[in-house]
Amino acid sequence: MSGADVNLVLRSTRVVTPGGTRPATVAVADGTIDAVLPYDAEVPAGARLADFGDDVLLPGLVDTHVHVNDPGRTEWEGFHTATRAAAAGGITTLLDMPLNSLPPTTTVDHLRTKRQVAAPKVHVDTGFWGGAIPTNTKDLRPLYKAGVFGFKCFLSPSGVEEFPELDQEQLARSMAEISDLGGLLIVHAEDPHHLEAAPQRGGPAYADFLASRPRDAENTAIIGLIAHAKRLNARVHVLHLSSSDALEPIAAAKREGVRVSVESCPHFLTLTAEEVPDGATEFKCCPPIREAANQDALWQGLADGTIDCIVSDHSPCTTDLKTPDFASAWGGISSLQLGLPAIWTEARRRGHGIDDVVRWMSAAPAELAGLTRKGAIEAGRDADFAVLAPDETFTVDPAGLFHRNQVTAYAGKTLHGVVKSTWLRGVRIADEGVLTGPTGRLLERNS
Ligand SMILES: [Zn+2]
Repeated sequence: MSGADVNLVLRSTRVVTPGGTRPATVAVADGTIDAVLPYDAEVPAGARLADFGDDVLLPGLVDTHVHVNDPGRTEWEGFHTATRAAAAGGITTLLDMPLNSLPPTTTVDHLRTKRQVAAPKVHVDTGFWGGAIPTNTKDLRPLYKAGVFGFKCFLSPSGVEEFPELDQEQLARSMAEISDLGGLLIVHAEDPHHLEAAPQRGGPAYADFLASRPRDAENTAIIGLIAHAKRLNARVHVLHLSSSDALEPIAAAKREGVRVSVESCPHFLTLTAEEVPDGATEFKCCPPIREAANQDALWQGLADGTIDCIVSDHSPCTTDLKTPDFASAWGGISSLQLGLPAIWTEARRRGHGIDDVVRWMSAAPAELAGLTRKGAIEAGRDADFAVLAPDETFTVDPAGLFHRNQVTAYAGKTLHGVVKSTWLRGVRIADEGVLTGPTGRLLERNS
């Protein structure tokens, strides 16, 4: 310990470190982790001690897939409400998706607008993905220089007209440009031709909706994406994997050295098609929640490392857009505040430990985005933490969520794991659901 500068010491019998979970004392100086010390290390004179007993001290979660929708669709969400929900849920860093806000993050000017809007509102550290659309190949380089963490594209319609999808030729062109920058392309991978060919019956039946977004649409898009990445030696990331059939080609590509990474989401890993009531479009997202057997295979993909990380894909809207017709309802699931307990509940049931959850929800997303100061409790990283009571349970009451719209597929579920407090750069920003003012910073790539 460097001694004089340490102003905060956190202690728990269960501190999740890269080397495992153990009793430890964490010394913090000026918002940065100074040292991870033995449990009974002496507290320096003048330092404040926060002793969490047997509650788990874990690195703050990093959620690289959040649709904040601000400015432009702030009735859906916004930087204030989204980052408050994040803080309450143990997330200390989030990356905002480039679409559903107006403007979308497809030019440097648009990025500037978003940063100006976000700056005074963020309760957690916040960064931005850029967007790759058919018309902005020339904007990718300046956007990257301006600090976006990489670029998102769609291969099928995104749901909003200002963010069109790329065809295969445009995909190859954007990927080559981004690869040339040394950047990362993150992809909504559903093949438009398979979607067009699928039966589009509409209506309230979940089975019909599921049939309209078949696994083959994902599988085909992912296999094509891997082929492009291999040919261009580009770095690509598969967003929100739902189809477990794609695990095998992804695993094979990884073995071959193709630079592909993969995320899945709490809804694919904790909810099943079998349980979605007809008309319950709070469960609608694209790709869709699939069958229980598919979910088992996704967990196997997490266990064997084919899936790298778990992020929310929090994509809210107003209540009126969740009509009971699965074809016309807005697709997107709200879960920013609930991801940690939802995943922890299912992970522990399947025999995983909290170390696994921290790897999937903090370390791996931080690594994906190149956030070298986030994602681990070790010296030199930001003093970002969540304190979790892993055995306590609660029942999800939508009224208790900080999301702008309290629509959630998790309503009424009893979950394990209560987030007691959240710390950002050594300051407690959430304490038993009570939040401080916004002290988050805007992040740029490599910052
Ligand atoms: Zn998304």
